[in-house]
Amino acid sequence: MGKKIDIEWSKLGFNYIKTDFRYISVWKDGKWDDGKLTEDNTLHISESSPVLHYGQSSFEGLKAYRTKEGKVQLFRPNRNAARMNDSCDKLLMPRIPEEKFVDAVKQVVKANIDYVPPYGTGATLYIRPIIMGVGDNIGVKPASEYIFTVFCMPVGPYFSGGLKPCNFVVQDEFDRAAPYGTGKQKVGGNYAASLQAHAKAAAGGYADCIYLDPATHTKIDEVGAANFIGITKNNEFVTPNSSSILPSITKYSLLYIAEHYLKMPVYEREVFVDKLDEFKEAGACGTAAVITPIGAIDYKGKRYVFHSETEVGPTIKKLYDILYGIQLGDVEAPEGWIYEVE
Ligand SMILES: *Cc1c(COP(=O)(O)O)cnc(C)c1O
Repeated sequence: MGKKIDIEWSKLGFNYIKTDFRYISVWKDGKWDDGKLTEDNTLHISESSPVLHYGQSSFEGLKAYRTKEGKVQLFRPNRNAARMNDSCDKLLMPRIPEEKFVDAVKQVVKANIDYVPPYGTGATLYIRPIIMGVGDNIGVKPASEYIFTVFCMPVGPYFSGGLKPCNFVVQDEFDRAAPYGTGKQKVGGNYAASLQAHAKAAAGGYADCIYLDPATHTKIDEVGAANFIGITKNNEFVTPNSSSILPSITKYSLLYIAEHYLKMPVYEREVFVDKLDEFKEAGACGTAAVITPIGAIDYKGKRYVFHSETEVGPTIKKLYDILYGIQLGDVEAPEGWIYEVE
């Protein structure tokens, strides 16, 4: 170890970089093998693999952070394990024991430890676990074999010049998920279905689109591939509830921080798109950016501005600083949130 990595950490974006090792484990004859690290970044699978035809796959996304003291730590990887297992249940894929999942993530981070960006660069190591159905199987039925693999790559700071608000547009001619479909699970097909809506929003100059609840098209579901959070004029923390929102680990962590660190009332409830005036600040949250402040939302020719289109609001800033501080080890974490790697 101690290999010299020639990367300008602060100039990194969110792009694939081949690191040295990835983990792979195979499920066959009713059980997982022990799994191993490999230098091969390609998969060799049957042309009839269900993942290729019918989207039988799920992914996760989490990060490893370098602390001020140089230690490397993970943020709530047990929650990613639980969410992947929920996706496995939904798509009839075999569960991955939490210990196996967390151990695989730790092995990959340790094997690529020199790729974990230094503290203070804003860059982090992004970790991508995936499970997919493979093997000879042309009918629409669950696969006979599965691959669970975990790879990682360093990614840059989402905001290099401080938190910058972004604008979003409600596009109610698109749904990302059905009311009781797979919106709550992190499964591949949801993202194929979002590409066209995203492209349209981007062409209109927006960061992404807002999806409404698919049953009534009156309430906010998701902000692109991130969850919505709002701060009301009464200083409450509000986030939508719905049967088709992907349960963001960042969102539930922010809700906990709002309640226990900032002593705010917190609510998971309906957020009506024609009542956005109730919010003085809003944000989109997820592992990649922690929080993207929402400057404005356009809906049916009306623009709702939250705090300012150019400056982050004070409560969103506080939530961001506390959560990112916890992830970097600068702020004391609630019990069980931080897993040390090295
Ligand atoms: C992954 C994801 C999120 C964010 O989840 P985190 O656990 O906070 O990273 C939100 N919405 C969608 C649709 C996602 O895929």
